[in-house]
Amino acid sequence: MTPSSWRQRLQRQAEGRVTLGRDRAIHPPAGVDFCSNDYLGLRRDPRLAEAATAAAREHGAGAGGARLLRGTTPLHEELEAALAAWKGTEACLLFNTGFQANATLLPALVGAGDAVFSDALNHASLVDGCRLARAGGAHLGIYRHLDLADLAAQLAAWQARAPAEALALVATDAVFSMDGDAADLPDLLELCDRHEALLLIDEAHATGLLGADGAGLAQLQGVHGRVPLVMGTLGKALGAFGAFVGCDALMRDHLVNTARGFIFSTALPPPVVGAALAGARIAQAEPWRRERALAFARGLRNALGQPDLPSAIIPVPVGPDAAAVRLASRLQGLGFDVRAVRPPTVPEGSARLRITTGAHLEEAQVEALIKALRELQPA
Ligand SMILES: *Cc1c(COP(=O)(O)O)cnc(C)c1O
Repeated sequence: MTPSSWRQRLQRQAEGRVTLGRDRAIHPPAGVDFCSNDYLGLRRDPRLAEAATAAAREHGAGAGGARLLRGTTPLHEELEAALAAWKGTEACLLFNTGFQANATLLPALVGAGDAVFSDALNHASLVDGCRLARAGGAHLGIYRHLDLADLAAQLAAWQARAPAEALALVATDAVFSMDGDAADLPDLLELCDRHEALLLIDEAHATGLLGADGAGLAQLQGVHGRVPLVMGTLGKALGAFGAFVGCDALMRDHLVNTARGFIFSTALPPPVVGAALAGARIAQAEPWRRERALAFARGLRNALGQPDLPSAIIPVPVGPDAAAVRLASRLQGLGFDVRAVRPPTVPEGSARLRITTGAHLEEAQVEALIKALRELQPA
């Protein structure tokens, strides 16, 4: 039993959330999936289940320790090699989650005197990584969303007063998780080159989905293998769980020695690694999956009068929290699993539906959603 002063505080905070309409609650899946990140429909693919089972039989249900203890199986190394080859990087290092990768990478790379510059709409895990880097003495600059002129100005201003040996890192989502828009990687790389800054991109929503090979936004935009730090996740399009960072061997060795979330955490369980390996192979071998997910997204955007974007995330802007929740629950009542996203996940006054598409959907289901959206939200 919690002491009563604690209970009172939590109770007050819970009531405050409800009054504001900001209460978050966990709702199990119900209806047709228009909200998961299972873009390629691989999560329930029997080949992933079989790969997981085989890995558990051969290597065990759990890894038994951190990677630096006994937690490394040949499967972990095989997955790292496969991901490096796919991403066009010299090396690759697995992390247990994308959140952990981002939160641990930045403070491992950027310290006292250095600087990290972060897009204003970056994922919460990059935000926390930036805050940790700042706690370690780094300068933190938040630049306006996708605004490279703002980034260049902030970099130049910082460099004018930075110590000679100080280094800068620029961190950005490749595809932004709540808007589905994308960074301009060629321009960012050019800007980073000019300022000798390191570029870190988060390809959580691009890996498996974009580019000729599904390698991600860097491949789609013609800079495959040229971004020094490419983070991606295994729990979204690849249907499993976990994350990785593609980089060169020197960088990987640095992270193995300094990234606390890597060093002090039990390695990914072998079944998860086996499933991710199968997911990565299928994602490359079956391009129809990403084509299908992206075609559905294009159809939805088109119907909503939105410009085409390279992602399977379609925001339906609403504005007020209550209206977004109401629209989501009407759609849920019609059998569509669509969720409202409210502040603080998105900026104040920009509550929305976040619709996603995946290869598991049927064309008729997408058309039915379009029809329902038109009826409930007349233009
Ligand atoms: C989902 C997500 C993460 C976190 O990845 P997990 O493996 O789910 O912890 C990081 N960055 C972005 C952009 C994401 O969407």
